[in-house]
Amino acid sequence: MDFDQFIQDTETIKKIKKRKFNLDKIRADFPILSREVNGKPLVYLDNAATTQKPDVVIESVKHYYAYENANIHRGLHHLSELATEAYENARLKVKEYINALSASEIVFVRGATEGINLVANTFCRSGQFQDGDEIIISEMEHHANIVPWQLVCEDKNIKLKVIPMNDRGELIMEEYVKLFSSKTKFVSVVHASNSLGTINPVKEIIEIAHEHGVPALIDGAQSIQHSRIDVQKLGADFFVFSGHKIYGPTGIGVLYGKAEYLNMLPPYQGGGDMIREVTFEKTTYNDIPTKFEAGTPNIVGGIGLGVALKYLRSFNLEDLMSHEKKLLDYATERLLEIEGLKIIGTAKNKTSVLAFTIEGIHPYDIGTIIDTDGIAIRTGHHCTQPVMRRFNVPATARASFSFYNTFEEVDKLHDALIKVKKMLG
Ligand code: PLP
Repeated sequence: MDFDQFIQDTETIKKIKKRKFNLDKIRADFPILSREVNGKPLVYLDNAATTQKPDVVIESVKHYYAYENANIHRGLHHLSELATEAYENARLKVKEYINALSASEIVFVRGATEGINLVANTFCRSGQFQDGDEIIISEMEHHANIVPWQLVCEDKNIKLKVIPMNDRGELIMEEYVKLFSSKTKFVSVVHASNSLGTINPVKEIIEIAHEHGVPALIDGAQSIQHSRIDVQKLGADFFVFSGHKIYGPTGIGVLYGKAEYLNMLPPYQGGGDMIREVTFEKTTYNDIPTKFEAGTPNIVGGIGLGVALKYLRSFNLEDLMSHEKKLLDYATERLLEIEGLKIIGTAKNKTSVLAFTIEGIHPYDIGTIIDTDGIAIRTGHHCTQPVMRRFNVPATARASFSFYNTFEEVDKLHDALIKVKKMLG
């Protein structure tokens, strides 16, 4: 793609001219997809772990360091103004992408993990939690939405209540409703499970929390890249995601928070930028979102993320989502042809994540062997050990698809798994 033309287009991402869905052209946007691994064309099916980057994102990083590098918010010189404008413009792009009410509700963080830690930590320090209070999470949470709450719980004696799931890997909503008590202070639930693929009914989950006067955080690490997110329609009080899972750089992510909460919460970290005035006796804090962005941020990460969102919006998101759904359906069908293969996570409403086991073969062996054919999948517990326990497996193999994947790649995965079975089965 022509980077200069792409980047100079200063229109808001809502008004970007749409491209037709053309898989060959899309794949050409991602340089890494044309490389080989172990002498075979790369088949990248580990998109839930991290997504590949289009050339416009890669170029934006290079462009920033080559022409705009300066620290932001501090200097009045030309480069500092350019860098500040680019960074704040990226915040605006995020605001538009998730339809937040204001850019001040967009806090740049390192990723989903840091976003959740920020909320757990500041909620606790704000005095909202008392000894004996309860927080509701679900059985399918990533460790990033379990451990931060346990850290908070350690010194406040707070109890985690867990929404159970059925054998398909769907949350049991009747049980969710029963978990509320007068002690419930927070609900924090994953939108789409990284180890099962389940898409949870988060709008309903949030509504029920609000009926009990309880705020809700949605972990959007696996939903933002596969669906249209509108935080206002969802009604989420907080929504977190990571840039690297939505075609942007690593080390950057977003915490969306309703202004009323962000204004109420104390700062997470102290340092430069987040202050209004510092004396040795007392410090006052900056307005949101800067109150939560202490120190020099990941400037180029923010800029790259803005470009990634703009890239996505150069398509009709529905075209991308429809291709991913077809890939998931096709892969499910093909993999089920393999004797002894069991899919873990069979919810009716699923994102493009396909986790499985093969009878008698350890998932690690599957991953290692198919890597020799250039096929990248993930094996292990996927940072969801309670999910592995629930399904009574030590680990799974997981293929996860992006809109740049092809049906031929699914066939290659199928054939490679047949080979694994012949070798080890
Ligand atoms: N939540 C979910 C559902 C995830 O899949 C992940 C990462 O895989 C995270 C949170 C944590 O994301 P990060 O490591 O980018 O902070």
